[in-house]
Amino acid sequence: PDFSRCGLREFVIQNVKKCGYTKPTPVQKYAIPIIAGGRDLMACAQTGSGKTAAFLLPIISTILNDPKELVITGQGCEPHAVILSPTRELALQIFNEARKFALGSIVKSVVVYGGTSTMHQAQQVSRGCHILVATPGRLMDFLNRGRVNFQSVRFVVLDEADRMLDMGFLPDIEKMMEHPTMVPTGERQTIMVSATFPEEIQRLATKFLSNYLFLAV
Ligand code: AMP
Repeated sequence: PDFSRCGLREFVIQNVKKCGYTKPTPVQKYAIPIIAGGRDLMACAQTGSGKTAAFLLPIISTILNDPKELVITGQGCEPHAVILSPTRELALQIFNEARKFALGSIVKSVVVYGGTSTMHQAQQVSRGCHILVATPGRLMDFLNRGRVNFQSVRFVVLDEADRMLDMGFLPDIEKMMEHPTMVPTGERQTIMVSATFPEEIQRLATKFLSNYLFLAV
């Protein structure tokens, strides 16, 4: 079993091979066809399971299937995928993987996180991107300042959702998911990844996901 039977575009499969991944991990084997098939997903997966590629590969593949132009309006950057992560370190890891997997394609990624000046990040965002990787607080700030809007969003990923809740990001996450510019549940694809599955995570899955599949590996 390799990546060729997961429903990914050939370009993405070739890039994955160049990264030295020969065989999908269990979470990749099950999550990639689900996401590439258009379904919402709640995945219970730990760090080290290969969860990042599990959501990035089908997202990049889908964007390449139907590449819409990057539009930059007066309301700011309109990403096609928004990936929320609890920490700067994780956001940077996701961003670097996204760049590797999309290398040589039109798919452009940008990362924004707190604890550092907004100037450089604002400049990057103002040029537009398909994939925006972010920590919740900084993205909320960009949203409030009209540097970003969600009207072209096709994918939302809440990575390490349990950690984001532990860190107190729930109010920001709820505001973003319910933002007036956010594409409604059911018209976008939403993916939640969490190492644990407590009641609060189940509640959010029910609220933000539509007709979703549950995957535990
Ligand atoms: P993650 O769980 O997404 O943080 O990934 C853990 C590590 O496994 C990362 O360093 C990835 O580069 C690596 N990795 C992910 N998928 C594969 C794969 N299919 N084959 C080999 N390494 C992988």
